[in-house]
Amino acid sequence: MEFDLIELIRQRTTQPRDDVRLGIGDDAAVLAVPAGQELAVAIDTLVEGVHFPPGTAAADIGWKALAVNLSDLAAMGANPAWALLALTLPSADVAFVEGFAEGFAKLAQSHRLALVGGDTTRGPLTISVAVHGFVPPGKALTRAGARVGDAVLVTGTLGDAAAGLHALQQSLDDGDSRAGLREFLIGRLNLPTPRLSAGAALRGQASACVDISDGLLADLGHICVASGVGAEIDAALLPRSPALMALYDEASALQFALSGGDDYELCFSVPAQRLADVQADLSRLGCGVTKIGRIVEGAGVRVRSTDGEWLATDRPGWEHFA
Ligand code: ADP
Ligand code: MG
Repeated sequence: MEFDLIELIRQRTTQPRDDVRLGIGDDAAVLAVPAGQELAVAIDTLVEGVHFPPGTAAADIGWKALAVNLSDLAAMGANPAWALLALTLPSADVAFVEGFAEGFAKLAQSHRLALVGGDTTRGPLTISVAVHGFVPPGKALTRAGARVGDAVLVTGTLGDAAAGLHALQQSLDDGDSRAGLREFLIGRLNLPTPRLSAGAALRGQASACVDISDGLLADLGHICVASGVGAEIDAALLPRSPALMALYDEASALQFALSGGDDYELCFSVPAQRLADVQADLSRLGCGVTKIGRIVEGAGVRVRSTDGEWLATDRPGWEHFA
């Protein structure tokens, strides 16, 4: 039973790479780290009902399980190479595994990432993916390193995924003329795009970087703690999608953009003299980029409203075990 599922996954995810000496099928994978590179590794787990709603399409789960991990490599400025997959399934559901592998492989192959091993067990639907990537020695982006006076920027738009989750929880009327806008937001929730080329382009440019998985306030807050600084952001500058602005009032859209999780955009700081170059580089890659604020002395993240008042930001995003 388990063997058939593993063989199915192996067949559906093939990605030849010279640095994979031994992939799926033995007791361990054997991998060759290229000379002169450092290895960046990360692991994230998705649990049904916690990280995705029951009923999410298998292909979307497969995509997202990998995407959230690739987003961590993007935030480090690493180039992805290999992944391990630990799959816990309630039953040997071939249709689910086929769908899952299809979504996983679609994203993996677009980054030439090889699935080199894993584990398959029975239990409540839970997916852990570990990813491995390369970064030139000493060049990994970290959360530490932001300096007073640096600009704070984000890629893409903020709040879409949280709004997508909200939209999913509403009962949808099929004939609704705004169904297409909801589809866009739900797509941002289920099929996030890891910002790998942007992350790589930020190596040697950004002073600190984090990916936004738990909401802008929480994740920029991590940069502040690690760097020993504070940050000020302007609500009026937050990039928000046309779909978010069309479907939600200003207060809700702002709440989603500041505190909503699951966007998997990058938030990073850049010294003022490199700002224009960085914006041009990311734009050339087709990656939207917006300056939203600055690094200041002190601690924590402050948000200035459109009328210049400081907002009370007592809900710092999604806190696990809160
Ligand atoms: P072992 O009992 O030695 O750990 P397994 O039967 O768990 O071996 O796995 C056999 C092979 O299949 C190993 O190479 C393992 O890495 C791979 N494998 C198992 N499950 C998965 C999975 N979900 N995705 C990718 N590879 C897997
Ligand atoms: Mg095993």
